[in-house]
Amino acid sequence: ERTVQRIAAGEVVERPASVVKELIENSLDAGASRVAVSVEAGGTEGVRVRDDGVGIPADQLEAAVAEHATSKIGDIEDLDHGVGTLGFRGEALYTVGAVSRLTVRSRPPGADAGAEITVEGGEVGEVRPAGCPAGTTVEVEDLFYNTPARKKFLKRTATEFDRINTVVTGYALANPDVAVSLEHDGRETFATEGNGDLRSAVLAVYGREVAEAMVDVEWEPSDSDVDPPVRRVTGLVSHPETTRSTREYLATYVNDRYVTASALREAVLEAYGGQLAPDRYPFAVLFVEVPPGDVDVNVHPRKLEVRFDEEPAVRAAIEEAVEAALLDHGL
Ligand code: ADP
Ligand code: MG
Repeated sequence: ERTVQRIAAGEVVERPASVVKELIENSLDAGASRVAVSVEAGGTEGVRVRDDGVGIPADQLEAAVAEHATSKIGDIEDLDHGVGTLGFRGEALYTVGAVSRLTVRSRPPGADAGAEITVEGGEVGEVRPAGCPAGTTVEVEDLFYNTPARKKFLKRTATEFDRINTVVTGYALANPDVAVSLEHDGRETFATEGNGDLRSAVLAVYGREVAEAMVDVEWEPSDSDVDPPVRRVTGLVSHPETTRSTREYLATYVNDRYVTASALREAVLEAYGGQLAPDRYPFAVLFVEVPPGDVDVNVHPRKLEVRFDEEPAVRAAIEEAVEAALLDHGL
C-alpha cells in the first residue's frame, strides 16, 4: 500500500518547485499577509514556508495531512482550480508527506498554544504541543528520500532553485498586497513589501533598473463592445530597451492565476513591433480578465498552459493594451 502511495505521489509532486507552489497556495488560501519561503540546496534538502494566516487548530492537524483532506469544500466546485494546483484537491500535504519528512506546525491567532505533527514517508506521527508564532510553518526535509528514482530525476540544485524562484516570483507579483520573501541556503533572494503596489513588488524582485523601465498598462474594451472577450488588462511592461535574452520575464495572469499562454506572450511581443533587438524579450507583468467560461484551464492539470475560446480576439486585445501603454509613454 505504501509503495503504491509513493509512486502516485512521485507522479504529482514532480520536484521541489511543485512543493513550494502548493505550500504558497495554502498560505494564500489561509489569508496570510506574509509568506516566507526558505529552501536549502535548491529545495532538495529542505523547503520551509512560514505564514501568518488563520492557522490550523491542533485538533485538525491530523486531518490536514490525511488523504482527501480539505477544509475548502467550496473550491471543489470551482472549475478554475485546475490552474496552479496539482489538479486535485485536499492532497498536497498528504502527497508531500508520503515522499519526505514533513512537519506542520501551527497556531491559530486566537489560540494560546501551538501544535505540530510530523509525517515521515507516509507514517503519521502524534500531534505534539509546539511553541510557535501565530500562523503556520510547513517544513519539508529530504524530499524523495524514499523514492530514489524520482530523486535521480532532479536537476542540479541551481536549476531546481531557478524553478522555485520562478514560482515564488510569480506569486509575489500576483499578490503585491502580501509580503513574500525567498531565501536560498540562508541568503535572501528577494523580499516584497506587501504594500499593494505592483511596481514596488517588481522593484523587490527584478531590481531598480527594471522597475524604473516599466510603464503602466490599463486597458478596457470600449463601451460599444457588448460581449468583450477581454474585460480588462492591467499591469506593467518594460521599455523596449530593457530586455533579457529569455522569455521567462513575460509573466501573465488570467483571472488572477499565473499561466503560460503562448498566445499572450506572442501578443505582447507583437505590440513592440520592430522595437526589440533580435532575440531580446521585454519584462511584463500582465493581468488579463476574461469571462471565466471563455478560458480552458484543463489543458494539462500540472502545467500552466491555458487556451482561449476566442484566441484571436484575446490576442488583439493584449496587443492593443500593450501598444497603448507604450505609445502613452512615447515609446
Ligand atoms: P487543500 O489545500 O486542497 O485543501 P492541502 O493538502 O493543501 O489541501 O491542505 C489540507 C488542509 O490543510 C487545507 O484544506 C487547510 O485546511 C489546511 N492547511 C494547509 N496549509 C495551511 C496553511 N498554511 N494555513 C492554514 N491551513 C492550512
Ligand atoms: Mg492546498
